[in-house]
Amino acid sequence: MTFKLQYCKNCLMPSTRPRITFDGRGWCNACVWTEEKRRVVDWTERKSQLAGLYEKYRSREGNFDCIIPVSGGKDSSYVAYMMKHELGMHPLCVNIIPPLEFDVGRQNLENFVNTGYDCLRIVSNPLITKRISRRTLVDYGQPLMSWIINVQVAVFKLAINLHIPLVMFGEEGETEYGGSSKLKNTPVYDMEDSIRLYLSGVDPRQFLDEFSEKELYWWLYPSEQQFRAANLAVAHWSYFEDWDPYKHYLVAKEKCGMREKEMASVGTYNNFAQTDTCLYDIHTYLMYLKFGYGRCTQDVGIDIRRSAMSRGQGLQLVRNFDGHYPEEYIDAYLDFFDMKREELEAVFDKWANKDLFEKKNGRWMPTFEVS
Ligand SMILES: [Zn+2]
Repeated sequence: MTFKLQYCKNCLMPSTRPRITFDGRGWCNACVWTEEKRRVVDWTERKSQLAGLYEKYRSREGNFDCIIPVSGGKDSSYVAYMMKHELGMHPLCVNIIPPLEFDVGRQNLENFVNTGYDCLRIVSNPLITKRISRRTLVDYGQPLMSWIINVQVAVFKLAINLHIPLVMFGEEGETEYGGSSKLKNTPVYDMEDSIRLYLSGVDPRQFLDEFSEKELYWWLYPSEQQFRAANLAVAHWSYFEDWDPYKHYLVAKEKCGMREKEMASVGTYNNFAQTDTCLYDIHTYLMYLKFGYGRCTQDVGIDIRRSAMSRGQGLQLVRNFDGHYPEEYIDAYLDFFDMKREELEAVFDKWANKDLFEKKNGRWMPTFEVS
């Protein structure tokens, strides 16, 4: 039996994506937002808001005036470049070294820093990282969550402790790629939004059953009181400028020494996005098993929305690439999560959506057709 999914009529995002909505034409909110960005959004007004922000926060005493989380990837390198060279800010770049880091990711960060940035690199305790990653993999189907928490928490804690008033993230991913549109017209966001939207509701305080507060320094958010007392401005670059990952890629290549992976990533045709860690490959494989769309659907959506691909071309790519099993990294995963192969397969079995997939010869195969 073939299961019917509703697909966006403009890109190929299905109705199973969390928090997605469709308009009367059957366009998803990411595509509607793209249209609004071209027709409705007043970018001049937003640019002057950005000017107000950096005039207000620009350091006059020699301290850093903003924190930018960086990976060496195209988007964060672009934001850092713009903040430093176009706006004349004095950013402190912060990098949380991801577990199972790719060589190309490490090299890209090094290339980026060598083009002239101050960068703080943090290694969160690898034993705790492994243990929490295993828990979030099993309990939530989220293998990257420990690292995602570290990035958010480190940025907030460093901003508060080093008295740096402004944090500039890259894109508001929910708005840009099709999730909640709550933040599309707000330049700043607060801690509750961070927990709800970015951690998919995973509250790190649950790990206190296994680790002390000290051990969880890079996992526990500052208290609301500390957060409010610091009077931080937490913003997304995508609010101020039309977010264009391909343009970021070109600028990062030219100005920040960024290089692509030699081969396309697992489950897609793209070789220059999310090249920091092979955990991203299992993350998107699990996303595919849960919701029936994978990394290729995401990449195709971006290319369709920037008018670089037709929906028909995207459909072919999705049929060819989406949801590939990350076989080449399985040994690295088993070592990192401290699991046997059967245990990892049991995680896939647990999270595979049984309405969308059936198991054949040991692999979960789609019962739906992308259309
Ligand atoms: Zn769409």
